[in-house]
Amino acid sequence: MTDAAPKLTPAMAAYMDIKREHQDKLVFYRMGDFYELFFDDAEKASRLLDITLTTRGAVAGTPIKLAGIPFHALEQYLARLIKLGESVAICEQFGDPATTKGPLERKVARIVTPGTVTDAALLDDKRDAAVMAMAAGKGRVGLAWLSLSSGDFKILQCPSEELVSELERIRPAELLLPEDLDLKVLDSLALARKKLPAWQFDADSGEKTLTRHFGTRDLAGFGAEGMGLAIGAAGALLDYVKATQGMNPAHISALTVEDNASLIRMDGATRRNLELTETIRGESSPTLFSLLDRCATSMGSRLLRQWLHHPLRQHEHIAARLEAVKALQSGGAGIDAALAEVADIERINARIALRSARPRDLAALRDSLFALERLAPLIEEVDSGLVRQLAHALPRQSPLAQQLAAAILPEPSTFLREGGVINHGYSAELDELRTIETRCGEFLLELEARERERSGIATLKVEFNRVHGFYIEVSRAQSDKVPDDYRRRQTLKNAERYITPELKEFEDKALSAQDRALALEKSLYEDLLDRLAQHIVELKQIAEAVASLDLLSTFAERAATLNYVEPEFVPQVTLEISEGRHPVVENEVDRFIANDVCLGESRKLLLITGPNMGGKSTYMRQTALITLMAHIGCFVPATRAVIGPIDRIFTRIGASDDLAGGRSTFMVEMTETANILNNSTAQSLVLMDEVGRGTSTFDGLALAWAIARALIEKNRSYTLFATHYFELTRLAGDFPSVANVHLSAVEHKDSIVFLHHVEEGPASQSYGLAVAQLAGVPPRVIREARRHLVELENQSAAMNQPDLFSQAPQPAAAEPHPLLGELADLEIDDLTPRQALDFLFECKKMLN
Ligand code: ADP
Repeated sequence: MTDAAPKLTPAMAAYMDIKREHQDKLVFYRMGDFYELFFDDAEKASRLLDITLTTRGAVAGTPIKLAGIPFHALEQYLARLIKLGESVAICEQFGDPATTKGPLERKVARIVTPGTVTDAALLDDKRDAAVMAMAAGKGRVGLAWLSLSSGDFKILQCPSEELVSELERIRPAELLLPEDLDLKVLDSLALARKKLPAWQFDADSGEKTLTRHFGTRDLAGFGAEGMGLAIGAAGALLDYVKATQGMNPAHISALTVEDNASLIRMDGATRRNLELTETIRGESSPTLFSLLDRCATSMGSRLLRQWLHHPLRQHEHIAARLEAVKALQSGGAGIDAALAEVADIERINARIALRSARPRDLAALRDSLFALERLAPLIEEVDSGLVRQLAHALPRQSPLAQQLAAAILPEPSTFLREGGVINHGYSAELDELRTIETRCGEFLLELEARERERSGIATLKVEFNRVHGFYIEVSRAQSDKVPDDYRRRQTLKNAERYITPELKEFEDKALSAQDRALALEKSLYEDLLDRLAQHIVELKQIAEAVASLDLLSTFAERAATLNYVEPEFVPQVTLEISEGRHPVVENEVDRFIANDVCLGESRKLLLITGPNMGGKSTYMRQTALITLMAHIGCFVPATRAVIGPIDRIFTRIGASDDLAGGRSTFMVEMTETANILNNSTAQSLVLMDEVGRGTSTFDGLALAWAIARALIEKNRSYTLFATHYFELTRLAGDFPSVANVHLSAVEHKDSIVFLHHVEEGPASQSYGLAVAQLAGVPPRVIREARRHLVELENQSAAMNQPDLFSQAPQPAAAEPHPLLGELADLEIDDLTPRQALDFLFECKKMLN
């Protein structure tokens, strides 16, 4: 596009005006049966959606690039674009092409962005999409995030170092940033980012925006004082949402300050490694989420995803959930069946607030409210404080359900514009207009009989079609018999169609009744939405209660079906699991071998050795998964689990190159390790799998040894440390809190059988060659390796190596004093007398 205003068609000029307002979005411009994209938008869409790029016309001699999609395929293309992180402004045409002179008026009717979608067709039932805004200050960041489809609005302030881990926890679909903020760490995250003017993140105007929205004097009631960064972000976020939705999101009724200190912290690597909700092996593999998700409602499924990523630290909160699960196991009969009839009230509620609820949404809401009324008495039987509290939120004799039942037809049509939505008996005027329509049939029959008699044409028919309205049809052969007052309306091959003054008068009345009925239904529906909007807070509470009940009752079902036990929590330093199983792997193998874990004050690090494929990672992961499941209030796959206070779970498992982030496997490994060493505490659970593997043997061994020592001596975390460096097993002799365990295996006729059983003491040998043989490495190579191994072992016995691994290693050789290095580097001619004097003082200091 050039600056010298080129001559444009009026439609293109209108397009340019709209595009100017929506530079950061793809503009879908309605032209008849297509949505068209122009210029760079066309090129981008053709690349992302694999649609044809063409050209049409020209601006200032340059052809206009163009791509289009058929209007009926809109949702499907939108879904793909949103997944790719794109935002779209959809521009509709208004007015009737038949009666309008010149181009039709076009306006942006809808804006769809990855984090603000609420359409049922574009959302994943089992996953919330959130939009987040962030502001940064000295060493801290303020975050505000919102799920528009539930109305949950949260804020948080944290040190900048924790930003990535918080983003990995919350996983927003879209991130809004001030344009002057450039954070390198964000580059490694696949996240749709949008820059907004920095002033929109101002704390004072944020506070004003928020207090105006909530109708409060200040933000003290939300506990948000002093959180200027987060409040600035929240203000920018609310403005953004209002602008994209074109209205006030009234269902956002509160602001919650997220208390992340009450959660067990996990970084992104840990969430991925434990395969909580996504797998690292490919889409279809099971995860802990897919195993546990037997929820009857999508609200329950989404809450499960949320709980899995937010395990609680406070034992009393977990205890309330566990008590509810236990009570639902014995007294929850019939609850699942009743819940299965409940629709996604949470999302319907958001659509009511945003005034995009469709007739069938309201019918589903009505049926759900009645289903919940039937559920309430079943729940009162359940003996649990938490369940009683949730039951309290459920509707009984709900006036809302009655109102909906009165207002909406049992099976309304999909679109309001088709009519057939408002119930009979709801509006006398509507009923009357509808009677005219139904009477129409009777009248036409009666007229037909009368006209047949009058004209003497026995085959005469009175009919209606949408294009021509009402008419009397007479076959061509009989057409000379028609009475004088018949006016010809249309001539067909074999028939003539007529209208009479009486029929015309009737037509006017009937058609206007239909139009008026449609208009009336529309306005009655709008009124109903207005009235429903007053129940948004109540509906949100109902939705939350349903989600929790559904999830707790799913936990009860899973515990019974999968043979899980209730975990016990104690204040002492303890992590004891009897006959623990890996919840996912146990369903994938024929016979799973259960194993114990016993950690406490005097035994805090398990050094795990044993052959590859012996089950080391499975054992470590199951320990973390059982710990995590216990902390969300779920029963666990074991015969007993006793757990003391836990603050964080860390894992360093598996080798993966972070190619997008430009880090090698070893760099990733060491970055994760550094994070663990810097942040784990005596209450953290740390899993270390084969650390030091990504570098040379001696480097790796020395690092693994020093890392293990740091974990024992300084961090004192609950640690499971799997290693193939057999030398490390000697740590158990030096530190009483270290214990050796191994995964057992037996060699059988030159092959190896894994027993998957954890036993005390170090592994007796490494079985590396046996595993290689099992994997199909040719026998010739195995024989060669075996011969070389014997040589190596003999050599190393003869070499008398220095002992790297005693408790206090000696310095390898007397190192020269650092002062000598300084002196050697000194350029005496360059020194001023003053600098020389300073240097002498420095020397003296170093010697002391
Ligand atoms: P390692 O980490 O020692 O190489 P893994 O933990 O990856 O071994 O286990 C390898 C395979 O062994 C797993 O995929 C699983 O099929 C099987 N396995 C592991 N632990 C058990 C167990 N306790 N009972 C039965 N099978 C197991």
